[in-house]
Amino acid sequence: MSHTGLDAVSQKLAEAERAAGRTPGSVHLIVVSKTFGPEAILPVIAAGHRVFGENRVQEAKAKWPALRADCPDLELHLIGPLQSNKAAEAVALFDAIHTVDRPKIAGAIAEEMRRQGRALKLFVQVNTGREPQKAGVAPEAVGQFLAECRDIHGLTISGLMCIPPADADPRPHFEMLAAMAQRNGLAELSMGMSGDYPVAVACGATHVRVGSAIFGTRG
Ligand SMILES: *Cc1c(COP(=O)(O)O)cnc(C)c1O
Repeated sequence: MSHTGLDAVSQKLAEAERAAGRTPGSVHLIVVSKTFGPEAILPVIAAGHRVFGENRVQEAKAKWPALRADCPDLELHLIGPLQSNKAAEAVALFDAIHTVDRPKIAGAIAEEMRRQGRALKLFVQVNTGREPQKAGVAPEAVGQFLAECRDIHGLTISGLMCIPPADADPRPHFEMLAAMAQRNGLAELSMGMSGDYPVAVACGATHVRVGSAIFGTRG
C-alpha cells in the first residue's frame, strides 16, 4: 500500500541525497507523528515505514504500545524535551533520544539504561540559535558537555541535533552543527524538518525529522 505524503517526502529525500552525492537511502527519515492518532499513523506503517518520532513521553506512551504490539520492528525516537522524572518511561519506550542537553538528564538516562539493560541511540541537542526559550546546549559548551556525558555518565553519544530559529535561514545552523559534530568525532546529525530537510541533507544530515509534509498541518 502506498501513502501519498510519505511517497512525496521519500522521493524528495532521494533527490536531495542524489544532489548532495550522498549514498541513496543513507539518510534516515523519522516520521514525526505528534498530535496524530493511529488512524493517521497506521497507513504509514502499512506503506512499510517503521521509524517514527514523538515529542512528548506521555503522548507516546498512550499511542505506541498498542501499535508496537502489532508491529514489533517499529523504531521510536524522542525528539522533544525530557524531564528527568520521565527518564525511566522514556528509556523503556523509545529507541533513541535526540534531546540530551543537561547533566541531570544525561545522568538519569545513563542510570535507567543500566537499570533496564537497554542501549538507546543518543543525540545531544545544540541551541545553535542561542534562543533563550529553546532547549539545547550552548554551542561553546558542547565539547565539555560531551566529555561529561562520556567520562562521568559513561554514555555513548552518536551525534548532534538542532532546531534552527523558526524565521532564520537554516543553512548556517546546519553547517555549524555539522562542523561541531566533525570536531568532536560524531558521525550522526539529526537536522531538517518539513520546510528544510533537503537543505539539511545537503549539509550532511543523517536523520531528518518530518511531520507536516507527510501528515498535513497539525490541528
Ligand atoms: C514537530 C517537530 C518536527 C517536525 O516538524 P514538521 O515541520 O511538522 O516537519 C521535527 N523536529 C522536532 C523537534 C519537532 O518537535
